[in-house]
Amino acid sequence: MDQSLPLVVIAMEAEAAPVRKKLNLTGEGNPLAEGISARLWSNESVHVVINGSDARFGVDAIGTLPASLTTLLAIEKTNPKIVISAGTCGGFTARDGFIGEIILANRCVFHDRRIPLKGFMNYGVGDFHVADLDEIAERLGFRMGTVSTGDSLDSQPSDLDFMNSVTTVAKDMEAAAVAWVSALKEVPFTALKVTTDLVDGEITTEDEFVTNLQYASNRLSEGILSLVHELKDFRTE
Ligand code: SAH
Repeated sequence: MDQSLPLVVIAMEAEAAPVRKKLNLTGEGNPLAEGISARLWSNESVHVVINGSDARFGVDAIGTLPASLTTLLAIEKTNPKIVISAGTCGGFTARDGFIGEIILANRCVFHDRRIPLKGFMNYGVGDFHVADLDEIAERLGFRMGTVSTGDSLDSQPSDLDFMNSVTTVAKDMEAAAVAWVSALKEVPFTALKVTTDLVDGEITTEDEFVTNLQYASNRLSEGILSLVHELKDFRTE
């Protein structure tokens, strides 16, 4: 029997708490490695890992650097059948996004790695392989679309131009980093994101993010529970 389980990688504790609750993952979790703040919870159906908080600044270790380190260590520890980058994101009114919308990736890129040198352009963008879960998304009523990643919460005009060019529906700060490591380790990858704020909306991202974080994280927990259930029969070809 195939014992390997999905691995869910989450950046912020506020996002992860409702997910763990929904998945019946209790306790403090286990440290991933010495000197690393990331913690791992496991049960018979799923693994969840969070980055933990930054030792110097005392805030959640968000962004691409901790995400890649956590993903590498967690893949090595759990040998998952698929990695899911899960969390909140910015959506776009221009593409009919709304607060609480659940998005499953069908494309995953970086939007702020501008390297106009021969050969490095595509390296910057990444365009990582994403598992084909169209049927599952359709069954669960999730929107499919491009998830794009950068290390800033705000969006500079050049980022926006790029995100428009690839029709980004979810802007986050981790997914492409998780995808890159998953590709290195030859593990299928996807991202499940829930909109906390509208990048092209009227309200500033920081304010809208804080207002909707709890609501979006509850939606995320429902989305992850359904996705993990649907992935029971998922097998790598
Ligand atoms: N000030 C916040 C920082 C949250 S950063 C705090 O309370 O600490 C936002 C996190 O949510 C990141 O992990 C990112 O993946 C996701 N996110 C939500 N909305 C986003 C947006 N508009 N742009 C980029 N990332 C976003």
